[in-house]
Amino acid sequence: MGLSRLLLYGAFFHPNGNHLKNSPNPGSKAPKVIPRAAHNVSRDEISNAALKVLYRLHKAGYQAFLVGGGVRDAMLELHPKDFDIATDATPDEVRSLFSNCRLIGRRFRLAHVRFGREIIEVATFRAAANHVDDDSAHDPEGRIIRDNVYGTIDEDVWRRDFTCNALYYNIADFSVWDYTGGFDDVKRKRLVLIGDPAHRLREDPVRMLRAVRFAGKLGFTIDESVVEAMRGHTNLLTNVPAARLFDEFLKLFQSGFAERTFELLREHSLFGELFPATEEELSNDPKFLAFTRTALQNSDQRVADGKSVTPMFLLGVFLWIPVKKLAEIRRSEEKMSESQSLSLASYEIVAQQQRRISIPKRFTIPMREMLALQPRFAHMRGKRAANLLEHRRFRAAYDFLLLLSEVGMGDAETAAFWTEVQSQSPDERANSFQMQAQTGKKRRPRRRRRRNPTESS
Ligand code: ATP
Ligand code: MG
Repeated sequence: MGLSRLLLYGAFFHPNGNHLKNSPNPGSKAPKVIPRAAHNVSRDEISNAALKVLYRLHKAGYQAFLVGGGVRDAMLELHPKDFDIATDATPDEVRSLFSNCRLIGRRFRLAHVRFGREIIEVATFRAAANHVDDDSAHDPEGRIIRDNVYGTIDEDVWRRDFTCNALYYNIADFSVWDYTGGFDDVKRKRLVLIGDPAHRLREDPVRMLRAVRFAGKLGFTIDESVVEAMRGHTNLLTNVPAARLFDEFLKLFQSGFAERTFELLREHSLFGELFPATEEELSNDPKFLAFTRTALQNSDQRVADGKSVTPMFLLGVFLWIPVKKLAEIRRSEEKMSESQSLSLASYEIVAQQQRRISIPKRFTIPMREMLALQPRFAHMRGKRAANLLEHRRFRAAYDFLLLLSEVGMGDAETAAFWTEVQSQSPDERANSFQMQAQTGKKRRPRRRRRRNPTESS
């Protein structure tokens, strides 16, 4: 969904001839056509919905290609889930073919064809804007902010990012069209940018994150030319709208390869561009690093097990030490409880973080709650303690507590207590919280009331 998604953010590749030193002139090169017998992109790897759209476009006389990650992942037999289709039909023509179709985007109209929960995105081939009347623009850093012209497949291809993402699977004869050498690059597991890498990263710095994301997910090597172009230019990411970075953040950390991706982001000095306060702490706090890694491993394991993952948990992990440190400062300035100080500090740290990645409130609010609950685990007696089990953020906060204790950043006995009480019956529980109330406190012996006052008299 990315290339067209990018359109909606108003950023797009504009292959200006001067910059595309290393690539052939757009439109000037014939593709290498790889017949079905010579590749392994099987229809079994393509969803029925995507096949339906492809076939219907084809039957109506249009060109219809599966493109992007769908082809790449099918070649790698990774069972792709996201399918992008490219065609020479205009969005209106696409719409007239499908009743379950909606056009989205104002300047760049894309067709979304819906089948139950699955959405197939159909994009009309686009050309470099400078071919026709110029309707594109770059910002002062060279980032593309507009591009808006329909074209042909041999123009469309040059706007894509990596060669492995620029393969077109033709439904007419099941061949794969390769203009950029992507077929070999998939086989050799290499991420190579189309065109001049420095220029391509300047016009859309998110491509740096995409390089790392694909390297993490696919185990590909980022080509040295790309690594070289990234070096010293990671701060270009500060020009990218924070909302777009949130989308990218989700893809980086929720696709099941978060740990590998995290290491790669740090290796290429990209993590600090996304989470500056976190990076600063990570580089001088080995426990925090271990904590973060363990959280990422757990999250990947959950994805592998088909369990749900929420970005708020990882955000809490990333921001924990910055929040904790600021909370201590706030507490030294003003009298407040530990929970209050954590809540206040979360608020401030999140506000700082929003400048890089805009995180919707539906994630920041539960994250603050989860962090602010941490000090409450230390209280293991009485009704208030028992009530914690009923808190709507208990589960997340407890998982967070476990993680802290696992890496030696939290008290193991406390974690064990909260693990234990969860499996207890209500009576046992009452007892546990009661027993806690008794430990350490000497009970004053109750004075016996005389049964019969007359007895002693
Ligand atoms: P995945 O679906 O696994 O994230 P993908 O390659 O399909 O991988 P999408 O974000 O779905 O990624 O994008 C679909 C295609 O659009 C890409 O394969 C690529 O050809 C093109 N594309 C996406 N984002 C960009 C970009 N920032 N610059 C250039 N081309 C892009
Ligand atoms: Mg995709």
